[in-house]
Amino acid sequence: MSFLVHRLPALRDNYIFLLFDPDRLEAAVVDPAVGEPVLAKLQELGARLVAIFNTHHHSDHVGGNRDLLAVYPQAAVYGGAEDRGRIPGQTVFLQEGDRVTFGNETGEILFVPGHTRGHIAYYFPRSGHLFCGDTLFSGGCGRLFEGTPSQMVQSLSKLRQLPDTTQVWCAHEYTLNNLKFALTVDPDNHALRARFQVVQAMRAADQPTIPSTIGLEKSVNPFLRWDTPSLQAATGHTEPDRVFGKLRGMKDLYAG
Ligand code: ZN
Ligand code: FE
Repeated sequence: MSFLVHRLPALRDNYIFLLFDPDRLEAAVVDPAVGEPVLAKLQELGARLVAIFNTHHHSDHVGGNRDLLAVYPQAAVYGGAEDRGRIPGQTVFLQEGDRVTFGNETGEILFVPGHTRGHIAYYFPRSGHLFCGDTLFSGGCGRLFEGTPSQMVQSLSKLRQLPDTTQVWCAHEYTLNNLKFALTVDPDNHALRARFQVVQAMRAADQPTIPSTIGLEKSVNPFLRWDTPSLQAATGHTEPDRVFGKLRGMKDLYAG
């Protein structure tokens, strides 16, 4: 049996993901923004925390590390090798191609810099779960705080080539605003218009839009679609880094 993923809303619009192995009663947490809802869920499940998987060093992704370690001092703290010194309690320093294990599964590390210079993603090929932090959002992508458009295109290319059925667990509920912006640059995209209707209804009913899938994102997310004619026309560029860079700049200025 593979692990189960519990989605815990935190702060304003973050999601913390708790991976639960019901056979061993063990859990791992991805990007604990805060500790308290994680501790509550662990208690409810009767599970012991064995790992913290951090995607990058921002406080809304590592803010709960210390509180969790206070209760589960044996838990291993994973993060990117480039984030050494920036992730509280980090014990494992990961690079592209490294592997982690949880439950019966092996996760592969993808180095995906751009949002930050140390950002990594965790991909579990057997169950098809991708934990991508602030690199890929549903309908959008992370801002380029410490990277270039070229780096981000490379990083997103790695995610885009995963199987269409891959479950994409993004760290924020930004989908509705992302799709509003997407419609301004790709208004004739029918898949995007249909997705916008669905997401609008979901958010009106206070439902989460995460996880998405790679297949869906490839059809609606402008930040994965630098090679489509509509976005090349919208940006006035054809070269991937320029199409992407222009879109990212437009989104940075978009109020919604
Ligand atoms: Zn971030
Ligand atoms: Fe974040």
